[in-house]
Amino acid sequence: MLCDYHLHTSFSGDSDTPASDQIEQAIALNMSRICITDHHDIDVVSDCDFTLNLQEYFPFMENLRRRYQDKIQVEIGIELGLQNHIADRLRQVTEQYSFDFIIGSCHFIDGCDPYFPAFFQDKTEKEAYRRFFEVTLHRVKNLDCFDSLGHLDYVVRYGPTKNQNYDPKDYLEFIDPVLKILIERGKALECNTGGLHYGLGHPNPCEDILRRYRELGGELLTVGSDAHDTCRLGYDFQYVRELLKTCGFSYYTVYHQRNPEFLPL
Ligand SMILES: [Zn+2]
Ligand SMILES: [Zn+2]
Repeated sequence: MLCDYHLHTSFSGDSDTPASDQIEQAIALNMSRICITDHHDIDVVSDCDFTLNLQEYFPFMENLRRRYQDKIQVEIGIELGLQNHIADRLRQVTEQYSFDFIIGSCHFIDGCDPYFPAFFQDKTEKEAYRRFFEVTLHRVKNLDCFDSLGHLDYVVRYGPTKNQNYDPKDYLEFIDPVLKILIERGKALECNTGGLHYGLGHPNPCEDILRRYRELGGELLTVGSDAHDTCRLGYDFQYVRELLKTCGFSYYTVYHQRNPEFLPL
């Protein structure tokens, strides 16, 4: 099965799953390697603490990596919550620890995660989606602290009508420059199967965006389930493998010590 490069363990504020359970599930699914990418969203207001305890995380994961090295290659990653005003702090984290792979994700927009209905108050769904993509573009322009951009159209998972009235063409003025910056700077786009799990019928981002990225010359593509428990690990990976081929990709990308390696789809 494709290597899962986006998954969470009990080090994330919103997961109770021991890292060893995720690794054993990945072995059972015949993955040759995985990357653990626990949340690190700093300077956010939330009931849940999304700050990663890096002093404990790193030695803990290194120990697991050694323990399972004969069965699976475990890479140590992180999912960084991108925000422009904390650029220096984000860079410090990436310089202080030798991650194999860093996902940059937009979770909090104007202080609120679209996961919460409050994000959609006082604006139409289209305005909310527009704002999400606009802020994403500002962050991608300004921040260089990541290897792959996580779930680019994450916001449509949570809109009042989800993706029923969603057409990425309506936001092309933001999406196209995001894709072009990723390509120029040698950064990857993530195909996140969380959207399929949330019942959208599409990954995040949707096929139109994945196809557009490829058309523009995008080659670096990571694949992740965003699993917070073992049931979701590798979710719909057989399906997206074929889907990505129809979008023009024949390879996907894995990372070790932040260097990309290509594997056939
Ligand atoms: Zn995320
Ligand atoms: Zn995630």
